[in-house]
Amino acid sequence: MALDINKIRNDFPILKRQVHNKPFAYFDNAATTQKPNSVIDRMDKVYRETNSNIHRGVHYLSDITTRDFEAARDTVRRFINARHDHEIIFTPGTTSGINLVAFSFGERYVSEGDEIIISAMEHHANIVPWQMLCERKGARLRVIPMNDKGELLLDEFDKLFTSGTRLVSVTQVANSIGSVNPVKQIIELSHRHGVKVLIDGAQAVQHGYVDVQELDADFYVFSGHKMYGPTGIGVLYGKEEILEEMPPYQTGGEMVDNVSFEKTTFNRLPFRFEAGTPNYTGAIGLAAAIDYLEATGLDDIAAYEKDLLEYGTRQLSEIDGLHLYGRAKDKISILSFVLDDIHPFDAGMVIDKHGIAVRTGTHCAQPLMDRFGIRGTIRASLAFYNTREELDRLREAVEKTIQMFK
Ligand code: PLP
Repeated sequence: MALDINKIRNDFPILKRQVHNKPFAYFDNAATTQKPNSVIDRMDKVYRETNSNIHRGVHYLSDITTRDFEAARDTVRRFINARHDHEIIFTPGTTSGINLVAFSFGERYVSEGDEIIISAMEHHANIVPWQMLCERKGARLRVIPMNDKGELLLDEFDKLFTSGTRLVSVTQVANSIGSVNPVKQIIELSHRHGVKVLIDGAQAVQHGYVDVQELDADFYVFSGHKMYGPTGIGVLYGKEEILEEMPPYQTGGEMVDNVSFEKTTFNRLPFRFEAGTPNYTGAIGLAAAIDYLEATGLDDIAAYEKDLLEYGTRQLSEIDGLHLYGRAKDKISILSFVLDDIHPFDAGMVIDKHGIAVRTGTHCAQPLMDRFGIRGTIRASLAFYNTREELDRLREAVEKTIQMFK
């Protein structure tokens, strides 16, 4: 069934606003997505009707909020098809999830001379935590190379494994150029070498179904705010048997079982990794976002976004002096491009004056920009509330920008 785009646009109040006296066209969805009424209303309801700290209370509202928070965990579990609710750790976001694994798993299993493998198209959030871990431990970072289209070279990947490889951490979808990586194959190959894998799903979960059991991912991380949910909430999925063996990362309330000045014992999963008051309102809002995505239909969303990507690619390809980056065979709806002799930042400022939001720069993927020998791109990242008419406006704005700088 095709998407009812008018209904969908009505669900997102911010899309009705004007920017610089023009209708607002939002193409910065890879940075963060807009929120539907159902998410805003659900969080509003928590603060207006049920707000109370969770888990520790015996009173009425604490009980309701605790149940809503744990129901949100179950919604996430179902959404990514994890086996157990306690494999779902709520975090502030993707970055926090990766840092948790780098500190906890890294502390226990990585030693001097060991190696961690990442890829050439990682977001800084999936580079720097590993780099710091390597510095702490005297370990080494290895990088899976990619071709000019933005596809990882799996033959080269296979050659990177040594007896010291401790973890592979790769993105499912590249935020800068949209490549979809063959993560199932990457996981299979890593497991053949006896190595565990973390998948950065920050740009993947919102574009289609993710099944962590089917992938056989050891860890999977993502952020609520990139999937039409609130900021400040994200998820780290980890296989039960791996999480059970990992030492605590942050410590304090909630994650403990028994505390005395002599000794502390720790709580069971998932609470052991959720120190302090969790963002329960965010978790409940995230569950509302998942409900919204499922009610809209993830298959229909993916099909609609594919059509937008093809349309946008055709429109932009016809512009003289515009060069698209990221031509992977499998790709999500991201149009990343440069304009001859115009700095991406200058172009972004002019495009903004047309009421169109694009992102410019390195998109937190500096090594990828270095690989292409460019200083950054202009990125239009599309969501299912965008339209072909908005892409026509983008084309027109880009053409006017080129004219202006001539
Ligand atoms: N990984 C990828 C692929 C991303 O696109 C992003 C954000 O753009 C992140 C990690 C970091 O996400 P967050 O800032 O929500 O922690």
